[in-house]
Amino acid sequence: MNTRARAAAAAPRSGKPPREKKSSALAEKFKRLGITRQEDLLLHLPLRYEDETRVTPIKTALEAALFGKGEEEGGDSVQLQGAIIDSQIQFRPRRQLIVRLADASGAITLRFLNFYPNQMAALAVGNQVRCVGEIRPGYFGAEMVHPRFRVVLPDTPLPESLTPIYPTTAGLAQSVLAARIDKAISAMPLAETLSAEFLAQARLPTLWQALLFLHHPPADADARALAARQHPAWRRVKLDELLAQQISLRHAYRARRKVGAPCLAAEGKLAAALVRQLPFALTRAQRRVCAEISADLRAPYPMQRLLQGDVGAGKTLVAALAVCQAVESGWQAAFMAPTEILAEQHYLKLSGWLEPLGVEVVWLTGSQKGRARATQLAAARTAGLIVGTHALIQEGVDYERLALIVIDEQHRFGVQQRLALRQKGQAPHQLMMSATPIPRTLAMSYCADLDVSTLDELPPGRVPIRTRLARDGRREEVMAHVRKKVAAGQQVYWVCPLIEESETLQLKTALETHAWLTEALPELRIGLMHGRLKSAEKQAVMAEFVAGKIDLLVATTVIEVGVDVPNANLMVIEHAERFGLAQLHQLRGRVGRGAQESSCVLLYAEPLSPTARARLKIIFENNDGFEIARQDLQLRGPGEFIGSRQSGLPLLRYADLETDADLVETARTLAETLLTRFPEKADQTRERWLGEKEALLKA
Ligand code: ADP
Ligand code: MG
Repeated sequence: MNTRARAAAAAPRSGKPPREKKSSALAEKFKRLGITRQEDLLLHLPLRYEDETRVTPIKTALEAALFGKGEEEGGDSVQLQGAIIDSQIQFRPRRQLIVRLADASGAITLRFLNFYPNQMAALAVGNQVRCVGEIRPGYFGAEMVHPRFRVVLPDTPLPESLTPIYPTTAGLAQSVLAARIDKAISAMPLAETLSAEFLAQARLPTLWQALLFLHHPPADADARALAARQHPAWRRVKLDELLAQQISLRHAYRARRKVGAPCLAAEGKLAAALVRQLPFALTRAQRRVCAEISADLRAPYPMQRLLQGDVGAGKTLVAALAVCQAVESGWQAAFMAPTEILAEQHYLKLSGWLEPLGVEVVWLTGSQKGRARATQLAAARTAGLIVGTHALIQEGVDYERLALIVIDEQHRFGVQQRLALRQKGQAPHQLMMSATPIPRTLAMSYCADLDVSTLDELPPGRVPIRTRLARDGRREEVMAHVRKKVAAGQQVYWVCPLIEESETLQLKTALETHAWLTEALPELRIGLMHGRLKSAEKQAVMAEFVAGKIDLLVATTVIEVGVDVPNANLMVIEHAERFGLAQLHQLRGRVGRGAQESSCVLLYAEPLSPTARARLKIIFENNDGFEIARQDLQLRGPGEFIGSRQSGLPLLRYADLETDADLVETARTLAETLLTRFPEKADQTRERWLGEKEALLKA
């Protein structure tokens, strides 16, 4: 398009009145700030404040700025008031407006590099002006550059409260935003939803008091508590925000209890038979968690339970016991894993456990085609347990009596996939498993619609994994270590660098890594595993590794989750600085599965970014997945942390799960009380914080 055509296209085509256009452009800007309703204005809180309640004599301000004397510290903004005694445009070094402002104590220069005619008029000699800004040493002595100013009458009263500075967006002036907010404040107080007794006991103001205070704090307000957002007014607002979140999620939780689901009330003979078969005893944590799940399955409404436990805690067995309860009760169970390798491993393990007990276990994956697929689909209709990838939820897959769905590594699946699986059964029970532990406060807030079980104990006899960090330059030493391990009859993983941007490059790197390792370690039997291998090839490689016919397995992150080969005791991760914390912890969890001493070597290339350095330090210092997750949350914030589970979920704006952990607990209790005893107040709270955003929470 040429310039003229573009200009024509940009010109308004219809005869829309310009006013309406302008106001909708403004509405668009408010929308960008998340403001569409009156309540949104009230809940749009200042980032910080400026103190315009006092005027400092010019002489005092100058001395303070230049010599650091007096109460005004250098770098802070001050408010001055005086008469304009000189105002002129200078052209050297460039066009600018130089104004002199004087009060009884002295005079100061105000410098404006950009200015409009109306500003020039306001700054005419003789006008009385109030201005706010920082004093800095300039070429011609101390001056203020671009102060905020307004013309006043000599006796115009000073404001009694601090001036709020709001978060805003390009093209929306502070003054316009502040005026809208003030109008909303005078138009509509917000109703209180918490009882006077509670507030008194918690030493919190009402929400309305808190909002008035935060929009316009008095001059003598505790500046530090305000800035740290720990003032009672801030705490009251944050409590309300957390309360809205809890109410919304707990509401969904309660609503689910009104939906019917099959009661899986079997006696437990099948599960007991499985336990008898095992060469080991259940850990105490496994027994406790199994009891929690078993009770859920007996209930007439669908379970939605998150089972979290560190890598190696034994979640698969817990799931298998739940499957037993479904099958013994005459229903079917499905077990879904995020990758084909993992699904396959689960299939082998689960069929090994369950087929001897007479349970039919069927394997379903996307790579099955034609006749084989038709046979599997037919078997899946009635089999006791169906294991597979997301092929389990595709079109054309039907189950006659599906009552339980187990989702392994649930954070790898999107909300959509989980919903699709749920729709395959009427209202099946769901067990979601995750080895990426969710820190307690996060679980209590963003996962409040789920029940959570935690395996907080590893099976006995596990030797902690030793983690070492090595600069890329020390590769030779690492190879020597690999040789030694293999000579001692052990097996090794070599994880290729992650290349997020391109799968093709990732594959290329894997092939290259395999090639040079084969050359460098000719005496070893070296295998290669990556995402592009055909399913049967992957299966074959994995089987060889399990059987000990491969010494060193070069692999991409396809082996990240679930893979379980007890004789593999050393893992080398290349370019460890490119991996996320959860991923490193998962990968490292592939070793240390037997009773021998295991180690993980993290090779990294310099220079390291500060976050990469922080991540490597955390993974080096910690073996406990919960602690790693906690620190990860601090490093990344909840938005990235919860990832696909609730993408699009409105995040908390004010409350911080780390510093306001106590408020999360309070909000949880209060939410139950409101939902049970004062449902209309629960609605009010939810409505004002979430409004239409709420639908997203229900996914
Ligand atoms: P994860 O929780 O990471 O999914 P797995 O279910 O893969 O862990 O279990 C890791 C290994 O521990 C498996 O080989 C499993 O058979 C074994 N295991 C599970 N429970 C116990 C137990 N109570 N005692 C000993 N080994 C166990
Ligand atoms: Mg697992």
